[in-house]
Amino acid sequence: MHNSPRCTAKSKRSGVRCKNPAVRGWKVCRMHGARGGSPRGPSSPSYKHGRYSIAAKEQRLALKLLQADSLATLWAMAELMEEGV
Ligand SMILES: [Zn+2]
Repeated sequence: MHNSPRCTAKSKRSGVRCKNPAVRGWKVCRMHGARGGSPRGPSSPSYKHGRYSIAAKEQRLALKLLQADSLATLWAMAELMEEGV
């Protein structure tokens, strides 16, 4: 049967859902914008320096989490020192 993921596009006028099969990796069918648009990342024509790229943002988030984690460890160690263990 039709168990493949369906297109999530909805008609502006009738409000009816498009029920075409969605392109793999997309939420919409080939008629509703799948595979279209500009290339992502460094190959995009508007790519400048990458400071705000998805990869850079993920990197910063990981660093922030690491910092928070090391700080928590440091505090835990300081507490142990105070207790004299
Ligand atoms: Zn569609």
